[in-house]
Amino acid sequence: PAATGDGVLAGLDPDQRAAAAIPGGPLLIVAGPGTGKTRTVTHRLAHLVLERDVDPASCLAITFTRRAAQEMTERLEQLIGEAAQRMTVATFHSFGLQVLREQHEHLGLGADFGLADAARQHQILTTLTGDERSARQAAPRLSLARRTATEDPLLADYLAALREADLVDFDDLVALTVELLTSRPDLAEHYQQRYRWITVDEYQDVDELQYRLLRLIAPAGANLTAIGDPDQAIYSFRSADVGFFLRFEQDYAGAPVLALTRNYRSGAHILDGALRAIAPSTLVTDRALQAAAPRQAHRIVSHQASDERAEAAFVARTIDQLIGGASFHSLDSGRVTGDGPGGIGFNDIAVLYRTDAQSHAILDELTRCGLPAQKRSHDRLSARPGVDLLVRELQHVADRSGPVTEQLRLAAKSVADLVPDEQRPDIHTAVELLGPLAQRCGQDVPRFCREVLLGAEVDTLDPRAEAISLLTLHAAKGLEFPVVFLVGCENGLLPLRWPGTEPTEADLAEERRLFFVGMTRAQDHLYLTRAARRTLRGSIQERARSPFLNPLGEVVTEAETPARRPRPAQLSLL
Ligand code: ATP
Ligand code: MG
Repeated sequence: PAATGDGVLAGLDPDQRAAAAIPGGPLLIVAGPGTGKTRTVTHRLAHLVLERDVDPASCLAITFTRRAAQEMTERLEQLIGEAAQRMTVATFHSFGLQVLREQHEHLGLGADFGLADAARQHQILTTLTGDERSARQAAPRLSLARRTATEDPLLADYLAALREADLVDFDDLVALTVELLTSRPDLAEHYQQRYRWITVDEYQDVDELQYRLLRLIAPAGANLTAIGDPDQAIYSFRSADVGFFLRFEQDYAGAPVLALTRNYRSGAHILDGALRAIAPSTLVTDRALQAAAPRQAHRIVSHQASDERAEAAFVARTIDQLIGGASFHSLDSGRVTGDGPGGIGFNDIAVLYRTDAQSHAILDELTRCGLPAQKRSHDRLSARPGVDLLVRELQHVADRSGPVTEQLRLAAKSVADLVPDEQRPDIHTAVELLGPLAQRCGQDVPRFCREVLLGAEVDTLDPRAEAISLLTLHAAKGLEFPVVFLVGCENGLLPLRWPGTEPTEADLAEERRLFFVGMTRAQDHLYLTRAARRTLRGSIQERARSPFLNPLGEVVTEAETPARRPRPAQLSLL
């Protein structure tokens, strides 16, 4: 049932409520991790609809990932019921896609223009450059040129080839929308009128094009609420620029700037440690942040393992201890519920790492110990080789008769035989996603797949799955978990050092912010682990601890690897 208007703001503390109840105009909320920024903006939207008679169709909420959009939609449904469906909750890219679909004729695109996936992009670039190697190098370069509005001799040819094929690519979703709305003020005006209420979460990580898009639909004076934390700006490598956040007050003169100071997420030691960690690089000079919840204050635990396998063993054994009883459950009921005595389940646990390569040792060890884990990613589904294969496979099944869903399943099965284990969940997600939708079409399955599959910036995570989450620090943004392992706390990984290069001061500051983001995902238990030696690019390297650990002081306590829990006798029968 939808909450009453009263209930909506009752779920907020006085500072949050004041922010949520600001009548209109631009508004900036600057606050640290876990202070309820996302919660506040969600409740603000609900409040507008329930208490201020704002039409839900005039609300646009921009989030950083599709997953965040899903979560916000679910929360809004709880607060305002079905009206939530009439709001637009989108990423910049999915919003751009919507505009392009609506305005395709102004762009010379067909009504059902396609989205070029990585394979198609590669194909086009190979034709243009003459060889595959140049094509591979050109793809990221062109993307960067697009996002930073810089020149590239190949760009015009590439875009012409895309349009010739009635395609747009991922960067186009925002870039082309900006071009269109810039050259057609009447259309910009149309979207300004339609979306009278706009909120943007994670504003510290907008890039130039996203900023320009926002300025087009929310000019000075608009009802725009931006929320963010400059200390969590971690996407400058993808040309995000915290400068846009810092100049919000100039762009939107007269905007009140409100702060939230109570952290509802983390235990006191975790928050204390995180604030010490960010202090040397903080962009927020007068930050006041206190732990609000009377949580159990567990100390931060650190551990030095001999190598990456021992580090993974520490993670697995510690999880085993925290969960307790998981393996008994699996024997009794045939499924692993993993609800230990402390009430910690597998999906309460996340392992965060700086580089994807670190995930292999962890995933291997967790799997070996029978602990369910799922790698989470916010990558586009189209970037996964498994999906490319699936689509290629579909070209062969597509002309046979029979229900499309069944064809998809068959195709997925044959693809699953070809791709490594860790890719398989993607395939299943893809099929699940496609199944019901496919029933509505199937004349032209491959084209349908491109539309649905490759067009979507799909997050393959199943939030309901009872599994430990493995994710990069970047993908962990905005999320929270009762138990967090931040692995690889070593110089060279945190901060990350590319071979043969010296990080600049700005690089180091961003790495430190990333460490801060990682630490502040934890609610009750935070483990910071490192290895004394690590195999990197085929050679064994001695590792020094991360300098980011230095300021933590006494909030951290060093731990040994827990002993293996004694197994019940039945287990040996398996
Ligand atoms: P981040 O910077 O990491 O994105 P955030 O500021 O967006 O964090 P939220 O995710 O909105 O923070 O909130 C953090 C947690 O605190 C959530 O579990 C949220 O439900 C809870 N929380 C926030 N405000 C309150 C409140 N007033 N009462 C109870 N719980 C709250
Ligand atoms: Mg948030």
